[in-house]
Amino acid sequence: MSSISILGLGAMGTALAQTLLKNGHTVTIWNRTGRRAEPLAEAGAKIAESPAEAIAASELTILCVVDYPAARAVLTQAEGVLAGRDLLNLTNGTPGDAREFGAWLAAKGATYLDGGIMAIPPMIGEAGALILYSGSPTLFERHRKTLDALAESRHLGDEVSLASLYDLALLSGMYGLFSGFLHASALVTSAGGKAADFLPLLQPWIQAMSGTLPDLADKVDSDMHGRNVVSNIAMQKVALENIVRASAEQGVAPDFIEPMLRLAGGRIDKGGHDEDISAVIEEIRQRK
Ligand code: NDP
Repeated sequence: MSSISILGLGAMGTALAQTLLKNGHTVTIWNRTGRRAEPLAEAGAKIAESPAEAIAASELTILCVVDYPAARAVLTQAEGVLAGRDLLNLTNGTPGDAREFGAWLAAKGATYLDGGIMAIPPMIGEAGALILYSGSPTLFERHRKTLDALAESRHLGDEVSLASLYDLALLSGMYGLFSGFLHASALVTSAGGKAADFLPLLQPWIQAMSGTLPDLADKVDSDMHGRNVVSNIAMQKVALENIVRASAEQGVAPDFIEPMLRLAGGRIDKGGHDEDISAVIEEIRQRK
């Protein structure tokens, strides 16, 4: 069994600490607002008086606070004890945040692993939870067994920014699904339908369309958007225009769908008429 400290006891930090306690680890906790530590102390965690005391108490420290400025504020209070320590940051942020934080910690002599949690707090320690990691492979392997108790662990590489990049990419896919669901539901409910009654049509449709992703991914990776095209982008642009016109007729805001129409139109204007919808990625990439 290992000794682990958790800095940050919001909904997620608390779930991490509870799961580690359940797995028999020695858990030391610290939170800016001290009273949030009390239920965990009753469950067997040791309360540290400061971030420095918590970091010094354990083989591994896990940081899980609201954002990177908060993470920096917490560790700035412990600068003197960071050298030689293993630090895992599960705070959500951008690739740039992770690179900057990793460089700051490296300068202090700490070993750094960054992580992105693909789960909500009740899922921690349960099947279906995934945590993405990037940064020090040594730290990851040293604590792998402990980390596997929290979620399925996936180490993406030494480059510290990869976990946040892939975390945000997965969330981007999720928000695309949610925005599509909300727009579709607004259309259906504008005619008196119920979103719940629409789901038996929508869910199998989304599942069927997911089957086209390997072909689109191949086109994205090869930049060969004109190969084996079944539904060309010019035809799809008409469908997108019809969705926008139907939205106006039904009194539904077209805000989710209009950007896709604009991007498809931009690609067609550059000669992409016969390409697949995958070609829209070239319109997004050029904004880098
Ligand atoms: P909460 O809002 O529940 O908790 C926020 C935590 O951050 C608290 O411990 C809070 O301390 C601390 N905090 C905020 N500002 C500061 C500061 N300036 N200095 C020190 N501590 C500070 O958030 P969660 O626990 O839900 O989320 C934590 C991280 O986990 C986030 O990055 C989030 O994106 C990520 N995450 C959360 C998921 C979720 O569903 N909840 C899912 C996946 C990732 P205090 O109690 O003193 O306010």
